[in-house]
Amino acid sequence: MAGKDFDGFVVLVTGGSTGLGRAIAVETAARGAEAVIINYASSQAEAEETARQVESHGAQAVLVQGDVGEDADCRRIAAAAEPFGRIDALFNNAGVTKFAPNHADLDAVNADDFLRLYQVNVVGAFQMVRAARALLEAGDRAGAVVNTASIAGVTGIGSSVPYAASKGAMNTMTLSLARALAPKIRVNAICPGFIDTPWFGKAMPDDTVARMREGVIRSTPLQAASTAEDIAGAAVFLASPASRHVTGETLLVDAGTHLGFASLSMR
Ligand code: NAP
Repeated sequence: MAGKDFDGFVVLVTGGSTGLGRAIAVETAARGAEAVIINYASSQAEAEETARQVESHGAQAVLVQGDVGEDADCRRIAAAAEPFGRIDALFNNAGVTKFAPNHADLDAVNADDFLRLYQVNVVGAFQMVRAARALLEAGDRAGAVVNTASIAGVTGIGSSVPYAASKGAMNTMTLSLARALAPKIRVNAICPGFIDTPWFGKAMPDDTVARMREGVIRSTPLQAASTAEDIAGAAVFLASPASRHVTGETLLVDAGTHLGFASLSMR
């Protein structure tokens, strides 16, 4: 059983072209998934590379371009699972941000930033659940939804105020949907800290990313800058049979970032 706990699973990953989404797609394939549907927005070549890695583990890969902020696209993405008759695991992983790390600079963000981030990070995940609901309910076991939220949504840190707010909303939505969709669908979330993915390099120079990586290693209790592979296992756990009695949970996967750094000195 160990190592093949996704035997026969039909998996759908949004934002599967790069980073955490790719790592989740490949991890489920390595653990025995029958088919992995890989959604991407614009990075077709990277999504094709994810598909190659999925197929190297013997799973069928299905690529679907689509913007999860658009309801019609979400329905088309979910429909890619129809030939398989069900979805066992939906990973709502697609996400966007605006980098405005000085949260005190209230003029660095505007209403359009909030709406754009909510449209993808919150509305997109909701629309995907709605589009996939019947397929998530169609299998013998409860379908699993795993939302990629963030430590930003728990502590308010992160790339900008709208980003943290959107991930906080995703965590609340995880609770609402877990209650509403039980017992046929489980809904959980992971809250990663820093993950070393293309996320940062898309928005800032390499030397800035390198400084950030070093800062994370210095400041996290586990002294680690997590890779996508370090985080994927926790996401996949929440869709696996081992978590079959877990729903409405937000799992912090942040190398201890949420613990803060002040140890209690008795001297
Ligand atoms: P990434 O490599 O940049 O991946 C982002 C993914 O989201 C890409 O596959 C991208 O597709 C997709 N995407 C963006 N907008 C989309 C849309 N409208 N519709 C469909 N797909 C869309 O970054 P990552 O770090 O792996 O991010 C994955 C998730 O982790 C995000 O939800 C992010 O908020 C979360 N997260 C990241 C960190 C971190 O430190 N990196 C920390 C906590 C949480 P295209 O490439 O095709 O545009």
